[in-house]
Amino acid sequence: MFKDTNCGELRKEHAGREVRLAGWVNRRRDHGSLIFIDLRDRSGIAQVVFNPQTAPQAAKMAENLRGEWVVGVRGNVVERPAGTENSKIPSGDIEVQAVELEVFNESKPPPFYVNDDSEVDEALRLRYRPIYLRRQRIQNNLVLRHKIIQQMRRYLDTRGFLEIETPILGKSTPEGARDYLVPSRLYPGSFYALPQSPQQMKQLLMVSGYEKYYQIARCFRDEDLRADRQPEFTQLDLEMSFVEQEDILALMEPLYTSIVEEVTPSKHVTKPFPRLTYKEAMEKYGSDKPDLRFGLELTDLEPAVRGTQFQVFRQALTEKGVVKGITAPGCAGYSRKQLDDLTQMAKDKGARGLITIALEPGASTVDSLSMEHVRSVAARYFTIDEVKGMAHAVGAKPSDLLLIVAGAHQMVNTVLGALRLEIGKRLHLQDKDHMKFAFVTDFPLLEWNAEEKRWNSAHHPFTMPHPEDIQYLESDPARVRAWSYDLVCNGIEMFSGSIRIHRRELQERIFQVLGYTPDETKEKFGHLLEAFEYGAPPHGGIGAGIDRLAMIMADEDNLREVIAFPKTQSATDLLFGAPAPVGQQQLQQVHIKVSPPEQK
Ligand code: ASP
Repeated sequence: MFKDTNCGELRKEHAGREVRLAGWVNRRRDHGSLIFIDLRDRSGIAQVVFNPQTAPQAAKMAENLRGEWVVGVRGNVVERPAGTENSKIPSGDIEVQAVELEVFNESKPPPFYVNDDSEVDEALRLRYRPIYLRRQRIQNNLVLRHKIIQQMRRYLDTRGFLEIETPILGKSTPEGARDYLVPSRLYPGSFYALPQSPQQMKQLLMVSGYEKYYQIARCFRDEDLRADRQPEFTQLDLEMSFVEQEDILALMEPLYTSIVEEVTPSKHVTKPFPRLTYKEAMEKYGSDKPDLRFGLELTDLEPAVRGTQFQVFRQALTEKGVVKGITAPGCAGYSRKQLDDLTQMAKDKGARGLITIALEPGASTVDSLSMEHVRSVAARYFTIDEVKGMAHAVGAKPSDLLLIVAGAHQMVNTVLGALRLEIGKRLHLQDKDHMKFAFVTDFPLLEWNAEEKRWNSAHHPFTMPHPEDIQYLESDPARVRAWSYDLVCNGIEMFSGSIRIHRRELQERIFQVLGYTPDETKEKFGHLLEAFEYGAPPHGGIGAGIDRLAMIMADEDNLREVIAFPKTQSATDLLFGAPAPVGQQQLQQVHIKVSPPEQK
């Protein structure tokens, strides 16, 4: 037996007992007469003391120990002498007096410290992943992730859900990304596609009568990566039959609150989850995944500036655009440079410019403002009543800064949405301990793809159009709302889902609107359409990102910190060196000839 006790579990009550421990040398301190090591296993740390008087052989061996060596210790648990306790570790009241030491393996000096949380270059973290995973912080993250998944399983099990696996080698399901392909050895020139999600499989399970399905599913999407994306990621994938949107939202709210309450009880959840339509979210927050931990809502300023002489605003309004603004509380003192930075940000997001109006603190109320308290490059074009009107509309007070954008509706929302988040960040309004969930509903069913001049599904093509809007599918596709819903939290999408189409005619109609020919529809989706002819029940579900949930619950900014073996931003695995070329023979077996792009 290597060990009978875990290091981190030793307590005062164990004093007097002989134990066997095994683990890694976290730290070694040589005090001449005595050698101390902090021995670490997954449970934590125990202090072991080597005394040359009582255990000369073990003490002699301990002189050679270095960080990350793997050792076993037999020894006696004793209470630490008064005044030498360590309140920072749970086993800090005791130490183990070593009787015997065995070295299982030595270690080279690690490429970075394991026993602290000092900054490590991202490439090193990935290249030396097995060692990085020893660090306490990432171990905590993986434990947290485990607990999230356990809570999902417990919750769904008690509500009658079945966990069912679906294949990884399959056929392309359109979720809006590129597929990862796997060549077939037996069928030259044919390929499997890795699932972008088990969407069609779970719908087919509903046709088969399974009613309540879920799976912790791996999904693969070959797309250009952002900070909150990985080429493969994990979803809680769930589907139910005989449900309406309300049934699903009513199931999901307690799931998420219970996860937070069980796993990170120090975090605060606002209940019930507020609801917004897509339109409200875009109008008030300029985003379909609004961060609701703070206000600073986007406000329409047209009523205040309808008669203005200011050309920029006049032009926007005559061109059927909008003039909207937000308040940056207490930011009237912003320097030229700070204002220029915000303007640049607005331009980067597509605005022609940003109008800033600083209400200097001279006046006590907005109503007592005079033009001498107004600082803006456009000040001379405004009347004081216009400034007061705008300030009232956005709820600004003296000392605040107004940020105003004019132009096309969608652009204005996007730009102000980004500025709102920036101000929220600068003013520290994004409290990490507050999990502010909200449901967003009534998304548009279709999005115009200007490049390809066709309609795309906003969610995916299996989404049920709002029954009232089905009549506009062909005549006014932009107007059709979907029966789809997202859960967002702190500005991040937690899940998206929808009620699905379950009748062949409607599904075929959608494919037609999306520009598929009848042949393409048959080739790509024939199996689903056929299944719909054999008694498909009404159904709906969700796909929920687990990596992102773990990321915000662990207070991390990067998905890689909650994934054991993640990929880089450019989709490579630095530990294994994947992707990698394979030999000729392997290529021949799958009938593939590679013609690499010419080197620049
Ligand atoms: N399959 C969808 C996705 O991955 C989720 C769903 O509609 O259930 O986004």
